[in-house]
Amino acid sequence: MTTDAACSLLTIDLDAIADNWRRLRDIASPATCAAVVKADAYGLGIAQVAPALADVGCSLFFVATLDEGLRLRAVLPQVDIAVLSGLLPGTAGIFLRDRLIPVLNDLGQVARWRAETTKAGQNAPAILHIDTGMNRLGLDPQEASRLALDATLLDGIDIRYVMTHMACADMPSDPLNAEQLERFKAAMAGLPGLKASLAASSAIFLGRDHHFDLVRPGAALYGINPTPGKPNPMRQCVRLEGRVLQVRYVDSGEGVGYGASRRFSRPGKIATIATGYADGYLRALSNGSLAHVAGHRIPMMGRVSMDLLTFDVTDLPEGLVLPGGLVELLGDTYTPDDAAHDAGTIGYEILTSLGSRYARRYIGAGA
Ligand SMILES: *Cc1c(COP(=O)(O)O)cnc(C)c1O
Repeated sequence: MTTDAACSLLTIDLDAIADNWRRLRDIASPATCAAVVKADAYGLGIAQVAPALADVGCSLFFVATLDEGLRLRAVLPQVDIAVLSGLLPGTAGIFLRDRLIPVLNDLGQVARWRAETTKAGQNAPAILHIDTGMNRLGLDPQEASRLALDATLLDGIDIRYVMTHMACADMPSDPLNAEQLERFKAAMAGLPGLKASLAASSAIFLGRDHHFDLVRPGAALYGINPTPGKPNPMRQCVRLEGRVLQVRYVDSGEGVGYGASRRFSRPGKIATIATGYADGYLRALSNGSLAHVAGHRIPMMGRVSMDLLTFDVTDLPEGLVLPGGLVELLGDTYTPDDAAHDAGTIGYEILTSLGSRYARRYIGAGA
């Protein structure tokens, strides 16, 4: 049974995501290009997105949590899956059983993985994470020097890559970028023969010296601009269309929605849409976003409610917005980055907030 005709619609273009991956791969070549699919592929659906990327040649995927890794393993039995959150006590057996690759974030995790893999008689793979200034996860500088002094600490582990993560790659002129690059090179000099990975989406655009052996894009795959302030080199992958529930005439002086936060200074017309903050349409967009109908811009009027949005359609030609019809809430003309700008956040949060009440449609070769 489908109730699509009553829902707002979220269309996800798997071809656009695959194209974005190929573009990033080509820019970073000869480095390998992985795909970061944490948080359900940034809200777009890991079970659909990851196979579409595997189809065009991606063979290494990063997730955040062990549970995400298990979910992806069920979908893709053959690919490499790395778990960024690390090797927590009591989880090594699950990593080994499902052939997941832990990202080792401290020397205790290194020792634990070594002990477990030795016990299991496997030279099991891992990725070593060295912190160079982010101060969230990864070996601290003292731990990294201890490894450099005693490489036997890694005996019995198949270290696929040594990785670090940049704090300011989306701000190319920030001095922390050069500092992190130098610290990473110094750490790699202490770990000869190992492959290196530094760049997420934005750092891929900072030049060849940032690519090393592996790049790890997430956001750019999903159409978020990796070069803020410059034209977006990526394709948009998301189209969100809100279902029109009612179109109503409002007298001059009347307010709209909770708090009656905006009032009409002339007789007006409101279209009420079946989407709200419970769908991840951020309440911070109250009175501050745009939608589009057949090329016309319509401004939000009133606050975002849990299930409803209200747009001012006073100036639209009669008959363009009707109950059961759709208005475009996100797409090529008002992108997740545009909504993020208006909500005071980043496109990442717009995508990962996309709710579960939409009728989801996947288009493209992988759909
Ligand atoms: C999330 C994440 C990425 C991907 O970052 P984007 O900015 O989305 O490309 C890469 N590496 C690590 C360690 C991450 O946590």
